[in-house]
Amino acid sequence: MICILGGTFDPVHFGHLRPALEVQQALGVPVVHLLPCRTPPHRPAPRAGAAQRLELLQLAVADEPALEIDTRELQREGPSYMVDTLESIRAEQGETPLCLVLGADALLGLESWHRWQDIPALCHLVVMQRPGARASTPRALVDRLNSTHVTDSRALHERSAGCVIDIPVTQLSVSSTQIRDLLAAGKSPRYLLPDPVLERITQEKWYAD
Ligand code: ATP
Repeated sequence: MICILGGTFDPVHFGHLRPALEVQQALGVPVVHLLPCRTPPHRPAPRAGAAQRLELLQLAVADEPALEIDTRELQREGPSYMVDTLESIRAEQGETPLCLVLGADALLGLESWHRWQDIPALCHLVVMQRPGARASTPRALVDRLNSTHVTDSRALHERSAGCVIDIPVTQLSVSSTQIRDLLAAGKSPRYLLPDPVLERITQEKWYAD
């Protein structure tokens, strides 16, 4: 089974890393692939460039074999549509079960994504509860996605796509926005993200206004 966690990672923080590791363990997969987008279609352009965000991700996962980086969106021109990414993985992996891991906030916006109706046929949706979000995905949304809500992760291994599962993760109320705001205000975001990531940001004065 392949698991990907897409995001802007502007910059990566413990609210990405710890839940990703918990999902990896909960689903019993060897690796979760962190998949940075190049040009997010639904939000303003990232503050840091693709190469910078990738470098920070590499520092963040350098000593964690259960977290890898998938750079396919960074190599693709134009908006980073998740449906294109899922199709490219599907073309490589055939019928292997494929999981898109996302925070509950991201799931609630899924119906605004490019060709969102095609997504449930391409992957399972693995939803990480985020602080402030409800504990389980609304039933009406699961129905609109034409998906099946499951509670046992073994079900994900039995089909290649089309399930939604909620995975409880440690609630870390950290966001990239918070970190960018702290840095822009000249304050320290230490202990919200890995030290090597912060060291690099500080060294290069990234995110300092
Ligand atoms: P920003 O503040 O710039 O919007 P972000 O902190 O939400 O960024 P993203 O890179 O946009 O980070 O998030 C990538 C994915 O990780 C999304 O699916 C998001 O819901 C999830 N995520 C981000 N932060 C957390 C967190 N603290 N806990 C659980 N999931 C998170």
